[in-house]
Amino acid sequence: MRRTARAIIHYDALVHNFNRVRQLAPDSRIIAVIKADAYGHGMIQAAKTLQQADGFAVACIKEAIALREAGIQQPVTVFQGFQTAEQLQQAIKFQLRPVIHQAHQIELLEQNSEGHLSVWFKVDTGMGRLGIRPDDVNDLWQRLQQCSCIDDVGLMSHFANADDPEHDVNRRQIDYFRQLSRRFNVETSMSNSAAIISFPDMQGDWVRPGIMLYGSSPLLGKTAEELGLKPVMQLESEIIAINYLKKGDTIGYGSQWVCPEDMPVGVVAIGYGDGYPRHAASGTPVYLNQQRTQIIGRVSMDMITIDLRPLDQVTVGDPVELWGEHVSVDEVATSAGTIGYELLCQVSACRLV
Ligand SMILES: *Cc1c(COP(=O)(O)O)cnc(C)c1O
Repeated sequence: MRRTARAIIHYDALVHNFNRVRQLAPDSRIIAVIKADAYGHGMIQAAKTLQQADGFAVACIKEAIALREAGIQQPVTVFQGFQTAEQLQQAIKFQLRPVIHQAHQIELLEQNSEGHLSVWFKVDTGMGRLGIRPDDVNDLWQRLQQCSCIDDVGLMSHFANADDPEHDVNRRQIDYFRQLSRRFNVETSMSNSAAIISFPDMQGDWVRPGIMLYGSSPLLGKTAEELGLKPVMQLESEIIAINYLKKGDTIGYGSQWVCPEDMPVGVVAIGYGDGYPRHAASGTPVYLNQQRTQIIGRVSMDMITIDLRPLDQVTVGDPVELWGEHVSVDEVATSAGTIGYELLCQVSACRLV
């Protein structure tokens, strides 16, 4: 039996957003980032839909192997690279492109005498997460060049604040990355979704869009619609009950929402067990019967309650959009004190896709 809560994936919108990246970065090759099950949209299906991508990127070797086993032939970047000799062997066998971000990986490459692979040399220009620290760059770059199993090496880094173009750290990251690109003179990759838009002159040889492909805005203060992006995921459920509460009645756990008048309240079959955020506050928009209304009271595990005062003629079984075409995932994220990324990823963890 079909579950009432469901995530519908609009693959045409995924292609639309990919083409939007092409417009924004016409001179770069595009690595479509499909880690975390394509941000909750289904990794294999997303990869098959984005046939035109020049490459894909995932977080770990296991995801990359799943892509190869599904017949995906493009270059596959592995952001976390390999941690063990066994994983290095897998990277070679499946012709993956791992990220080299620490000395330990270079030791494994030095000990390896068979096979070939291309890699990314990732420098920490200011993100402070994965990446070779500036003090070690020269030494490790030299050692990497001497590894007999290495084909191409690209230079990569990652912005910490591309969503906020005015942030000071951006300038430092850009200056340092430019300096390294001039010194090493290899192909480069620096830009995630936000940077593709904020810093067009940093697009380099390969751009790495993730969130924008799924139609969520990568920039603070700009909506996805303003950026020409279309929502890919439509999260829906249905009204399962309509209650008529009296003035002064309270709704849900904690009894925090108090009815200001006699009013109709809809119960919708979706909750945090389905990936809808528990922290979505009263006032978070939902859409049904061609109108927006809002959630009232706390989100439960399998249910939410919504204000039906603005609507006439609601019946049990009416579909409700939690996010998608009429309510952006970014609005819901803001109401829940988080980001669209988290909400989208949460849905595949709940197996709605
Ligand atoms: C996730 C990730 C991306 C994609 O970022 P978006 O903000 O989703 O565009 C790019 N590069 C790296 C290294 C990442 O981890």
